[in-house]
Order: sequence, then structure tokens, then C-alpha cells
Amino acid sequence: MTHLLHRSIHTPPRRAVSASGISFTDDKGQTYIDASGGAAVSCLGHAHPEVIAALHAQLDKLAYAHTGFFTTDVAEELAAHLIADAPEGLSHVYLLSGGSEAVEAALKMARQYFTETGQPQRRHIIARRQSYHGNTLGALAAGGNEWRRAQFKPLLMEAHHIAPCFAYREQQEGETDSDYAARAAGELETKILELGPDTVAAFIAEPVVGATAGAVTAVGDYFKRIRAICDRYGVLLILDEVMCGMGRTGYRYACEYDGIAPDLLTIAKGLGGGFQPIGATLLSRKIFDAFADGSGFFQHGHTYMGHPMAAAAGLAVQQVIARDNLLANVQAMGATLNAQLQATFGQHAHVGDIRGRGLFQAVELVADRDSKAPFDPARKLHAKIKSEAMARGLMVYPMGGTIDGVRGDHVLLAPPFIVTEAD
Ligand code: PLP
Repeated sequence: MTHLLHRSIHTPPRRAVSASGISFTDDKGQTYIDASGGAAVSCLGHAHPEVIAALHAQLDKLAYAHTGFFTTDVAEELAAHLIADAPEGLSHVYLLSGGSEAVEAALKMARQYFTETGQPQRRHIIARRQSYHGNTLGALAAGGNEWRRAQFKPLLMEAHHIAPCFAYREQQEGETDSDYAARAAGELETKILELGPDTVAAFIAEPVVGATAGAVTAVGDYFKRIRAICDRYGVLLILDEVMCGMGRTGYRYACEYDGIAPDLLTIAKGLGGGFQPIGATLLSRKIFDAFADGSGFFQHGHTYMGHPMAAAAGLAVQQVIARDNLLANVQAMGATLNAQLQATFGQHAHVGDIRGRGLFQAVELVADRDSKAPFDPARKLHAKIKSEAMARGLMVYPMGGTIDGVRGDHVLLAPPFIVTEAD
């Protein structure tokens, strides 16, 4: 008997009782290797002693202070730490409790930027079809996963979607990376022109697509082109790094790899490594100045934003990652993981693609390698993989994605950054 509404009512989850390092233990004594960090969250693994010590120390000092009354040393220090090596132009941090909240704030910041700067007609949000930006209504409206959106459509704000940059599915035979990048990015320009450039507020995209497609990296200079198109039409660029950011790809901010900087950047998951619920929206000096010179505030806020315990977790996690140079391990172990996946599954009759960056890797499963036809969704392959893996003591993150209406299954692997070759 349970009074919890679980994610799946008819298959309630196993009961976890403890976790340390890269493994979990349940109430039956079975252990599980956490090869997905939950959902790409637990970047330092579990029970990291320094994070626990930082949390105890913060709890002894100050557990909660409402941000309408106080700021705190720990929140200020975390913001400074995040900005110190943030992409160029990002100057301020808005602390929240998770990824969806960070995306909601980014969408509203984009809108308020234009009301503050005398362009109130800019209201359209453009996103990509193969994307996930969260489950709250604004983030769900922006996201491009039709399955998640379908029944809530009557409640969703208007948003516009273009094709993702997804080479395995959409790059044509004989098309170079550069030509494909130009074609995929060109969809943004076409959409902006169709809507009317002075009505578009922002374009939002994940630098590496996570849950909906499985570690899909862009090809060539796709993101440089996207940045240039946004600049050409005065459209703000929001990069959603909730899943791929904070070192997951081997770069602290995933967009470093692409050599671009957004106007707004969202982070969560690996920011607090699961030790506390925390997310953040980073904003550029240009947006900060518009608020500062205009109304003097961002018209938003949550009771738990800037929570000292969450900030303490985020600061401790990020300090350990920096001090122990864990991003080098993410790059090295990511290459090892990819090579081992290729060696083990590369020729498998039902493996279509193996891809990713850093410790953010995925295997796409297909019914037929030649045609790339996905499995029938009624088979619920991803659910079976998850339960079979759990039965064998392994946590992976399988999903059925949607590619322009075609469902495909993939398995995402996102082990903690402390993972070793032996693990
Ligand atoms: N954005 C991206 C890219 C995500 O992967 C997720 C969660 O998976 C979210 C936003 C939503 O974050 P949360 O589940 O913390 O609300």
C-alpha cells in the first residue's frame, strides 16, 4: 500500500535505501551500478564526504532565508563561481530549484527584455522538434516532444518548432557536415522570416540533446550559424544545458565546444549533483542592464529560490569538480565508454547509432539497421530494457524519443564523473 503517486502506477519502483560512490542498494539488499547518474544528475556519485560536510556546516549556520529579505554568502559565492568561467557576456545568475524552473525563468527573461527595451511586439518562441525543456507549462510548450505535449495542448502557449540537427536521422546521403549544418540552421532563419523578425523573442535549444533523442551532438558549425542568425534578427539565444551542462560533456558549459555564447543559459541536474534540488538561469550583461535601467527587477520569483542548502550543495559539488580536475576524467572515460560501446554493440543487428560527448553517450536501437526503422512503440522496448537492466543490477536511462512523429528507442548512459576504467 502506498500513498505516493508514483511515475508508473502499475509498476511501482524498487525502494532505495542507500547509495555511495557509483552504486545504490535497495531494501532487498540488491545493488545497482548507477550508469546514468539517475537522469544525468549524480555527477559526483553518492555520499560524497565533502559535499555532506558542506551541507552539515550550512545547516548548522543557516538553513533558509527568503530572497525577498536576504542574500547569503553561499548563494553569492556560488554565483561568482559559476560566472568565473561562464561563456562570454554572461554576468549574472538567477538561482532556482530545478531545470523546468530555470527554463521558465529564461523564457520570461527573454520576454521581459523586450518589454523593457521598447519592443513589446516580440513574443514568439522558437524551439526544435526533438527537444525536452521541462514539464511545467511554459517549458512544455517550448519543448518539441509531441507525446509529452499532446493532452496538455489546450493549456500551452504558442511556440514554433524547427527540425533538430540530428545527423543520424536527417543528414542526407552525400551531404557534407557543413552543408547539413547550413541546411538545418537555415530552418531557423526561414521560421524567423515567416513569423516576422521583429515579432520573435527567442530561440531555445539544447547544445547536446538529452532525453528526447539521446546524446545528439550537432554537426559542423551548426551552432555558430544559429548564433549568427539570432544576431542578424535581434533574437535572443537560450541554450538549455540542464542535462548536458556542468561538465557532463567534458566542458563545464557544453557550448564551449561549439565556440559560442548564448544570451541566456539554463543549468540544473549536475549543478547540485543530486545532493539538493537546484537549477539556475545565467543571463548576459545586456539583459541585466535592460532590467537595471528599466523597471529595476525581474518580475518573477519562487519561495525556495536561492535556498542556502541548495547553494551549499552546488558550491561544494562544483568546487570538488574543479579541484579534482574531473573534466579531464570525463573526457578520458567518455572516450573509453564510447570505444567500448562501439566494440561491444557496434555491429549488433539492432544498434543503429552510438554517439555522444564526454560521459553523455547513447545507443540508438532500430528494428532494421539499413532502413533505420524504429521498433514498434507498442513493444515499449525502452521500458523492457530498463527493467532487464535493473534486474541485473544496472541503472541506465532508456527512452522512446520522437523524431518528427517517428518514435525511436535509445539508451542514455551518463555515469558519475568519478567513474574509473575498472568501473
Ligand atoms: N531541460 C532539459 C534539457 C532537461 O533534460 C530537463 C530534464 O530532464 C529539463 C529541462 C527539466 O528539468 P527538471 O526535470 O529539473 O525540471
